[in-house]
Amino acid sequence: MPSRTDSPLQVAIIGAGLGGLGAAVALRRQGHAVTVYERYDFAGEVGASLSAASNGSRFLEEWGVDVKGAKPVILKQLIMHNWSDGDVQSTYPLGDYKSKFGTDYNNFHRIDIHKELLKSAVEAPGEGPKCELKVNFKAIEVNAEEGVVRFENGAEASADIIIAADGIRSLTRNMIGITPDFEMSTSCCYRCIIGADKLRSLGLEDYISNEAIEYWGGFGINKIVMSPCSNGEVVSCYCFYPASHNNVRDDGWNISATPQQLVDTFPDLDPRMKTLMLNAEDIKMWRLYKHQPYPYWVKGKVCLLGDAAHPMMPDQSQGSCMAFEDAGALGLVFNKSFREEYGVLEGLKLYEKLRQGRATRVQEASFRARENLSERIGWSSSADRPGKLTIEEVCGYNMRDHLAELVAEVKGARV
Ligand SMILES: Cc1cc2nc3c(=O)[nH]c(=O)nc-3n(C[C@H](O)[C@H](O)[C@H](O)COP(=O)(O)OP(=O)(O)OC[C@H]3O[C@@H](n4cnc5c(N)ncnc54)[C@H](O)[C@@H]3O)c2cc1C
Repeated sequence: MPSRTDSPLQVAIIGAGLGGLGAAVALRRQGHAVTVYERYDFAGEVGASLSAASNGSRFLEEWGVDVKGAKPVILKQLIMHNWSDGDVQSTYPLGDYKSKFGTDYNNFHRIDIHKELLKSAVEAPGEGPKCELKVNFKAIEVNAEEGVVRFENGAEASADIIIAADGIRSLTRNMIGITPDFEMSTSCCYRCIIGADKLRSLGLEDYISNEAIEYWGGFGINKIVMSPCSNGEVVSCYCFYPASHNNVRDDGWNISATPQQLVDTFPDLDPRMKTLMLNAEDIKMWRLYKHQPYPYWVKGKVCLLGDAAHPMMPDQSQGSCMAFEDAGALGLVFNKSFREEYGVLEGLKLYEKLRQGRATRVQEASFRARENLSERIGWSSSADRPGKLTIEEVCGYNMRDHLAELVAEVKGARV
């Protein structure tokens, strides 16, 4: 006999960032009717790199996203430089990463991977019915029990599941009764990019060809993280510095700065990196916040996903990967056979159980890595402190096994 959840679910996703689009693709592939609502008229991304370790890349591949079309640079190593002269202090070769963890360690330009995810969500050739994207739909009210979203433009939508993928400043989170506990970090971050041709003309071509994430500093607040993306045509830098340096109070990630302001922030830095900074483009400041984990992620028919669920420091390069895992989890929980066994509400609780502990552990390790590079996966070694997050735990994670364990627990509890 068909169960009450046998037919496709109506899914409303609030937010067309990387997490929302990931969820759209994952659920479309299970045959659900997905609509993504984005507050702006174009669901964009910023000009910076995004490294997708295997735990994130695995889902991109599984969903049939054109990973190659997103022009990744495949990372081969981590390199640590002396802060003041740039000499290489140590390297961490990633070895045969693909055979160990199943995918390459892809480094994307954020705009490129956002574009490919959007295509996978809304274009026809993918598996399942194509998703609908509605722009200029800012969600302003949610009824979690009824499954209704109201928008600023006066429209209203009903759904079996509402996914709040509305980012670090999520309003939906507040609407389901969570008051975020957060504080301004003592760190800020400039991001900037520079073209490969410019680097060649400056004699900095090794910054393109190393196929590496390269670090300066990282023990204390100051840290530069540099990596190539867009088929090696662009190099992207994240430059962390003490917030007290310029006392920026403005919220956000889009505050422009000049090359001189950037370079003046790091007076005793490696002169080659300073040359890059003086020639950098699109320099923007990112205000960082420390968020405590939330008590729950699900209320009624609403679930949180991505930065709305677990905003984290960028120092493990795992925020989007965790969002892709969240999206992958929804695809597994609400796949065809699960739907025959569980209703929506039980499925959402299973999603929360599957995701909350792991994402919180990565969130906490990201905070520890903010001022201590030896906590960053790859540089961390499990031997020097029990309980440290390791590359094996993050990249070797098997969500299907984890879900099978939880399902067995749930079934055991029912008997
Ligand atoms: C400096 C830095 C470097 C990083 N580097 C990496 C990295 O290398 N690897 C990695 O995995 N992660 C990285 N991250 C983390 C990653 O950027 C985020 O975790 C990820 O982009 C979050 O995606 P999201 O979809 O949850 O949220 P967002 O990207 O913020 O998307 C939210 C979307 O919701 C929309 N929205 C908001 N409110 C509403 C509303 N009311 N109604 C409708 N739409 C709404 C917004 O307009 C937006 O499009 C980094 C982060 C930072 C700050």
